[in-house]
Amino acid sequence: MGKFDQYKVELRGMTAPTASLELDIDNDFFAKIDGPEVQKGRANVKINVTKKTGVYVLDFDINGHVIVTCDRCLDEMEQPIAANGSLSVKLGDDFGEDGDTVIVPERDGYINVAWYIYEFIALAIPLKHVHAPGKCNREMMDKLRKHTPREDDGDMEGSGETDPRWDALKDIMDN
Ligand SMILES: [Zn+2]
Repeated sequence: MGKFDQYKVELRGMTAPTASLELDIDNDFFAKIDGPEVQKGRANVKINVTKKTGVYVLDFDINGHVIVTCDRCLDEMEQPIAANGSLSVKLGDDFGEDGDTVIVPERDGYINVAWYIYEFIALAIPLKHVHAPGKCNREMMDKLRKHTPREDDGDMEGSGETDPRWDALKDIMDN
């Protein structure tokens, strides 16, 4: 068995106009994919396949969480993920693309969706992710704060939303 054999979705052999399957992915999946955005997580993936004239439409419904780095304290945190995605697939001579439609070889008759699942999840991670208030790693926060030069209060931006203490940290991380 190949690393991603369980993520093959049979198309050519579909006997009914629709098919559905369900997969559970975990840390093992992310380790094998080895993508840049996510290394750990757990999710349930539901896929509905609809056979239309000459094209198969795959709808993904993904629910779970990924482990990402908190923007504030740099510690790991669980980020809930609810992602939806759609993919149009055609059978053809070879792998390719036709606009937004993916082409897979008819001789194979399936599409491997492992990378698409990964991409839908990666896209669903909010740009900003921080622990719930009070849940940050205090030790780490103290360390970060010690290495932060004190800033002149007059320099602060007037955003009422962020705690001014975080602004200095943000500057470190933006560099
Ligand atoms: Zn945190």
